[in-house]
Amino acid sequence: MALDEFGLIQRYFTGLTMGTPDVVLGIGDDAAVLGLPAGHELVWSIDTLVEGVHFAPGADPEALGHKALAVNLSDLAAMGADPHGVVLALTLPQPDEAWCEGFAKGFGALAVACGIPLVGGDMTRGPLAVCVSVLGRVPTGGALRRDGARVGDRVAVTGPLGDAALALQLGDAAPLVLRTALDRPTPHLAAGCALREIAHAAIDVSDGLMADLQHICTASGVGATIRVDCLPQSPAFAAQKIATAAALQAAGGDDYVLCVSLAPERVADAQAALRAAGLPPLQVIGHIIKGDTATLVDAAGTPVALASSGYRHY
Ligand code: ADP
Ligand code: MG
Repeated sequence: MALDEFGLIQRYFTGLTMGTPDVVLGIGDDAAVLGLPAGHELVWSIDTLVEGVHFAPGADPEALGHKALAVNLSDLAAMGADPHGVVLALTLPQPDEAWCEGFAKGFGALAVACGIPLVGGDMTRGPLAVCVSVLGRVPTGGALRRDGARVGDRVAVTGPLGDAALALQLGDAAPLVLRTALDRPTPHLAAGCALREIAHAAIDVSDGLMADLQHICTASGVGATIRVDCLPQSPAFAAQKIATAAALQAAGGDDYVLCVSLAPERVADAQAALRAAGLPPLQVIGHIIKGDTATLVDAAGTPVALASSGYRHY
């Protein structure tokens, strides 16, 4: 017999409530109850993925489950937060067991890898959409915000840029590593925590480097100069030797690396903290200046024009 809503929740989602010390009550009651260690604040975010807008009809549910959680965890990473709990609202045209199984597999594998318990959710009938809300925690006052960048800071990223955008451009011809960057991004949670007490400001690169860095500039009341020749490329990206590399790297989006602003004298501390966490080093790509705009320049300092600075929904 086909499973109903409660059967689907029981079979595929209840097992994703891990017994972390903060889960007082998980799935099954009217709401979840979570503890918060003394001296901490909650960091809270939500993201929705709609079929036909954020993913193609017929998208692999397992990859979707991964990505729906990953984009939310990336927001926690950008705040320097540790994962605390997550709730999941699914809107499905019908109670599709195979879809739920695939989705729960992708979502669950990343949840387990990142140590975040699924503590509740909702299931409704309607056009396919996935809404995920994550809770994180930081020591009180310790969240990494967008408004802390200072003139003279270095701007750096925690990983390569452009892989996902290149995968999108190449379509079926994209090598697996690039495809994986697009479909199953890895949230840089450990890097966010390692940089929490070092960086002045941070954002995760979801809409495109220059567009997201502009958010830091606007919030902080500063400008930025970014060197196009310093944007890090993955080996798979570099191997494609494409002419439009700068546009993909500076404006492509879906990178889910962190872009941080930090004092030049703290760069060595940041590298040490990342190394201690077993993570790759920061790549310095530019610096913060007086002004209000993030600008991309070449090695000679000449501004590089981009067709678009990033993805916008409207
Ligand atoms: P209510 O009618 O009180 O809103 P629901 O029937 O929506 O309760 O949900 C029953 C329980 O199952 C609740 O604890 C809820 O958090 C959980 N739940 C519902 N949908 C999901 C889901 N997609 N993932 C995880 N937990 C879910
Ligand atoms: Mg409900």
